[in-house]
Amino acid sequence: MNEDVRHLVLIQGFDEEIALRNAEIDSLPRHIAEIKKRLHVHQLQLKADKDALVANQKQMRDLEGQIADHKQKIARLRDQMMQAKTNEQYKAFQHEIEFHEAAIRAAEDREIELMESAEALSGNVSVAEKALAAEEASVKAEAAEAEKRVAVIRAERDQYEQERTQVLVLVSRDVRAAYEALKSRGRKQVVAQVEGGQCGACRITVRLQVIQELALTDKLLRCENCLAFLYAVPVTAVDAHGPSETGQVT
Ligand SMILES: [Zn+2]
Repeated sequence: MNEDVRHLVLIQGFDEEIALRNAEIDSLPRHIAEIKKRLHVHQLQLKADKDALVANQKQMRDLEGQIADHKQKIARLRDQMMQAKTNEQYKAFQHEIEFHEAAIRAAEDREIELMESAEALSGNVSVAEKALAAEEASVKAEAAEAEKRVAVIRAERDQYEQERTQVLVLVSRDVRAAYEALKSRGRKQVVAQVEGGQCGACRITVRLQVIQELALTDKLLRCENCLAFLYAVPVTAVDAHGPSETGQVT
């Protein structure tokens, strides 16, 4: 097997490992952002319930104030009623008192409604507070876990990159340039094994002569269709010192 191709096989393997790790490194912050967003929605819900509770209490105070006003007015009307000179005047005061009494009853009914909803709201708030505390703790733990995981993956990736660099310098300049050019165009398989007479990258049938040359010589041969660097035997089966003298087509 051609030395350059043997090295490219290793480099392509490193590139796959590096790409996998880069994808994972990219995906983890996104995942954390998603769970933090979910947490934020729950925080907003809790805040809305708390605000509603505060508004409820304010309404209660307002109603208390209104009731006190009505009561004051009723007391004044009763005083005035004592001094009524005619039956009509008396009735007019009584009518006005009834109006304020009705207003007090309406305000008290509203107070009961508010108390009921306050009870429900404060129940919601205390449940949500507990759930949120648990969620915040789990998000924090998950983020810390993700950070640790990213550090591990990053170290692995750096290791692969280092090994890749070491192997890359062993490859001839023009072959290296050709490999990098195809890679930069998004090609995943730039080095391909001939399998069942086909290029492993593009599945086009490889000429028999090429297959024979791959097996018997260490010529650098590329797929005529997709320009992949070809090899004909599994790399693991290749003698590390070069191509087999006898050569075998697999
Ligand atoms: Zn091909």
